[in-house]
Amino acid sequence: MPTWSSVVVATPVHSGLGPTLSYRSELSLAPGTLVRVPLGAREVLGVAWDGPDVPPPGMDESQGKPVLGALEGLTPLNAAWRQLVSFAARYYQRSLGEVALAALPPQLRDLDAAQLARRLKRQAKTAAAHPAPTGTPVAALPPSPEQEAVLQALPGAAGPVLLFGATGSGKTEVYLRMTDAALASDPAAQVLVMVPEINLTPQLEARFRERFAAQYGDGAVVSMHSGMTPAQRLGSWLAAHSGAARIVLGTRMAIFASLPGLRLIVVDEEHDPSYKSQDGARYSARDLAVYRAKVESEALAAKGQRCQVILGSATPSLESWHAADQGRYLRLEMPARIGGGSLPKLRLVDMNHQPKGASIAPPLLAAMETRIARGEQCLVLLNRRGYAPVLSCDACAWKSQCPHCSAFRVFHKLDRTLRCHHCGFTSRVPRACPDCGNLDIAPVGRGTEQIEEQLAGLLSAVKRPDGQPARVARMDADTTRLKGSLEQQLAALHSGEVDVLVGTQMVAKGHDFRRITLVASINADAALFASDYRAPERLFALLMQAAGRAGRDAAQAGASEMWVQTWHPEHALFASLRKHDFPGFAAAQLAEREAAGMPPFGAQALLRADARTQEAAQAFLNAAAEAAAELPHRDEVTLYPAVPLTIQRVANVERAQLLVESASRAALQRFLAAWQPLLLDGRSIPGARGLIRFAVDIDPVSI
Ligand code: ADP
Ligand code: ZN
Ligand code: ZN
Repeated sequence: MPTWSSVVVATPVHSGLGPTLSYRSELSLAPGTLVRVPLGAREVLGVAWDGPDVPPPGMDESQGKPVLGALEGLTPLNAAWRQLVSFAARYYQRSLGEVALAALPPQLRDLDAAQLARRLKRQAKTAAAHPAPTGTPVAALPPSPEQEAVLQALPGAAGPVLLFGATGSGKTEVYLRMTDAALASDPAAQVLVMVPEINLTPQLEARFRERFAAQYGDGAVVSMHSGMTPAQRLGSWLAAHSGAARIVLGTRMAIFASLPGLRLIVVDEEHDPSYKSQDGARYSARDLAVYRAKVESEALAAKGQRCQVILGSATPSLESWHAADQGRYLRLEMPARIGGGSLPKLRLVDMNHQPKGASIAPPLLAAMETRIARGEQCLVLLNRRGYAPVLSCDACAWKSQCPHCSAFRVFHKLDRTLRCHHCGFTSRVPRACPDCGNLDIAPVGRGTEQIEEQLAGLLSAVKRPDGQPARVARMDADTTRLKGSLEQQLAALHSGEVDVLVGTQMVAKGHDFRRITLVASINADAALFASDYRAPERLFALLMQAAGRAGRDAAQAGASEMWVQTWHPEHALFASLRKHDFPGFAAAQLAEREAAGMPPFGAQALLRADARTQEAAQAFLNAAAEAAAELPHRDEVTLYPAVPLTIQRVANVERAQLLVESASRAALQRFLAAWQPLLLDGRSIPGARGLIRFAVDIDPVSI
């Protein structure tokens, strides 16, 4: 007797189809079963979902399309996973199918039954080919007193833990030990460790492998991130889903991995904005980690087990810090660096008192020369790649404007191109001004390429202890584009080939540079007065993190320095930075946020619109606001007028947004849920003409 199954497929929220579709099947399918079903003329991957096994209204058993087959050899996705996906779809206002299918490896969609069977066989074979685990644990270093105290306190924490530990305080060592304990607690236990950037996964994987591969086998540690090939991603996913992988290391996408034995989630550098997705379902992997740990724990409660979540950072997000203030998270602290090294001393350079036009102030240059002569390394940060942010003509008003965006194209001197960093539009640098023919077109402002060039010149006479001239290198998205180039550059730095590294914020994150004793941020001011209220929080985190790169070798730590060039040395942020006082900084920021009703004291969402013209984008948003007048909870939310984005045109698309705010997260959620059908139904919003797309961004990280 045929039965009915609810199945989710990748239908976007605007398709107007329900959250699940009904299909006929010969056998009743357990929720979570992966299936192939017809959709229109296509055959697609779907997931059998929790739902009534009765025919949809108006259909009988002779109607409806049949399930074509289940994916054999794969156990159903478990209830906690389905709950995570349902929650994410609901909270971030996307369709269930969109979130569920995006959470699965793309290759799973394309393989037919025979291919999948071959894949699973191969997977089993490789697993068998790994050297047998010895079962012998690798001895860990004895914990420091601070690590010891944290390790003692962690098992007693009922909810999420915020591990507030200075850079170099040994947080990773705590994760390793907690992983060890979790894996030992149950033969099926799994651990998920997340990092914000793909670049950080290789070194993390190396550390986890070193500690656990012998004991649990080579296949027990896998990575999961968007830099992997589709085949690699499928391999990691299958390993996690089958339980063969005991430890999954990954970027934000890993939060959706199928982990039937999940017992511990670690979110390292939890403050990092990369945890927030910027397209599709704009989810926060950190927030979902907290949610996931809760539902996994509920599912495990009957067994007397649970899934713990640890958020780690030297500069926590104000959301997590506030949650700890309120007692919702347990805050554990490790203020001291391993080996007793102190954090670098802050040196502010008041640019008001420096020679005009100097990009590197003379005292900073002198300090760098001294360090190089002693065989130490320097790190110079500038958040702007290329040679100069704009080329400009002296004789007329011409500037290297991008024809497709409201932004300038950046001058890259090495390959003599003008490149738009927003749409990618690239052309050769013109010989003369395209408008007036003037031959004198000049770069304005400085990027990493130019600073690298200038420093190479300024330091050319400086000798290292081995008598060689000082070497300057650069690391940013341009120099690391090729596969393996980042690793090579890091190796050059570690081996001491390079004395000065110039780079964007990418170099400030996580890498363990042993011999760096001086870090300099040469143009940090933009963030002090940015319109985005999160800019100071970001700047503070970046500078603290950059400072954390210096003096990791205790022998040199006493003398390490963090230099910041600024036109506003009196800014309060620097006073906190000088004392390495994150709690003081956070308290001041939170007081400001509370006074203004901003997150985490209120909740926000953005309605974003892309259109052919700015008028159309704004008209849609404003009409959407008007159409909401009668909606439930309308009186508990504030809708602001539509405004253009800071960069309002990208690739010939005009962009605008409308801020929605509420003192109550629940009220905001209910309002948005009621608003969504109106937004999807073009007829109810007259301004929709000329609109290309719209999206809702819940808990946006940039305004
Ligand atoms: P964090 O993640 O907080 O920046 P790490 O865990 O990377 O810090 O530790 C910093 C350095 O200290 C690493 O080189 C690590 O090997 C070392 N380390 C960590 N814990 C200990 C310990 N208990 N004893 C000795 N060295 C340690
Ligand atoms: Zn000109
Ligand atoms: Zn452009």
